Amino acid sequence: MGRQLDIATRLVHAGERQVPAAVPVATPIYASVTYTYGSMAEVDKVFGGEMHGYVYSRYANPTLTALETAVHSLEGGFGASAFGSGMAALHAALMACDLGSGCTVLASQDLYGATINLLNNVFMSFGVSTIMVDYSDLDALAAKAREVRPRIMIAETVSNPLLKVSDLACCAEIAHAVGGKLIVDNTFATPYLCHPFELGADLVVHSATKYLAGHGDVMGGIAIAREEPQHNALRSIMKLAGGIMSPYDAHEILRGLKTLALRVERQCANARAIAEKLSPDRRVARVHYPGLASGDARRKLERTLRPNYAGAMVAIELANDTKEGAFRFMDALRLVVRSTSLGDVFTSALHPATASHRDVAPARRRALGISDGLVRLSIGIEHVDDILADLEQALEASAT
Ligand code: PLP
Repeated sequence: MGRQLDIATRLVHAGERQVPAAVPVATPIYASVTYTYGSMAEVDKVFGGEMHGYVYSRYANPTLTALETAVHSLEGGFGASAFGSGMAALHAALMACDLGSGCTVLASQDLYGATINLLNNVFMSFGVSTIMVDYSDLDALAAKAREVRPRIMIAETVSNPLLKVSDLACCAEIAHAVGGKLIVDNTFATPYLCHPFELGADLVVHSATKYLAGHGDVMGGIAIAREEPQHNALRSIMKLAGGIMSPYDAHEILRGLKTLALRVERQCANARAIAEKLSPDRRVARVHYPGLASGDARRKLERTLRPNYAGAMVAIELANDTKEGAFRFMDALRLVVRSTSLGDVFTSALHPATASHRDVAPARRRALGISDGLVRLSIGIEHVDDILADLEQALEASAT
């Protein structure tokens, strides 16, 4: 019998580093920073890339690998990398395209506000200039791309808050014709409704905080590269800038993914019913919902999203087009949650003029079509009649 270890030593080591006798059915949370091997020869091989393995959780972690493998299988491309938030993933995706002094980014004017600020504040200080254009005018977009020859074009599959669907196939063609790359933020569409790589995108980004996780309790971001050089660049940014996702959060998001199809099916069906019910309502001036679109917007929807789906976001312009009217509507909501996020199992409402677009000058906001009476709804999985009843009574409150 070996020498009995002291209690102080057993407290540190007892029970640790056991190899499980069976494969766990659900991926465990690997809350370990480092990984050990039977010999230094093995460690050497793992460090040298000759043997698969883990060395340090800023480089890779088995729980994150499970999530990355899952998202890679949903989106395609070369590989997925998980980050601590959607913004960290967007930042890494931009960096992975070699953005540097003198480069131009041709960005959709309808991008999420923080993405615009990231470009205009952080990247601008490194000499990157960003030009914002209306991605719904494809001829003007192509002409601008030929003129400025951007390193990157960046769009959202479905824009925020007016829910314009981008014609990603055309955007990719325009970017590639001038030697640029197309980054697509696929957060609003999810991989269930859109596969940007099939339409020509070079990098796809998700705020996993939204639909992928789906329960409003975790933050994360994923960037997926179509080709190996950008994938390697993403891994390098992850290692060196260190904006990694925690294994606890990766576990939550991996669990969320399992019900994505069920959630999105229900959310889309609810959104369609709500958009159709509210569009003739006299208390609503206009409903923005891609499924109600006709003409050119309809063609873009059909080219980009899964057939017969239009997403689960609905934006309504109240007939009482004032901040006070919008606040009365928001304050009257009892079931629908006033919340700054989206894509959750619960229905939520946001007032863009005072939240996501608060920092945009009022005149610019109006030019973008974001009125004071605009409310963005992220439709959840509740029974549609309950959501509608709550919206109806809040509309009545806003109209009086
Ligand atoms: N992209 C879109 C379309 C978003 O709506 C958001 C957040 O609202 C982000 C990116 C940023 O994601 P996160 O808040 O996870 O950093």
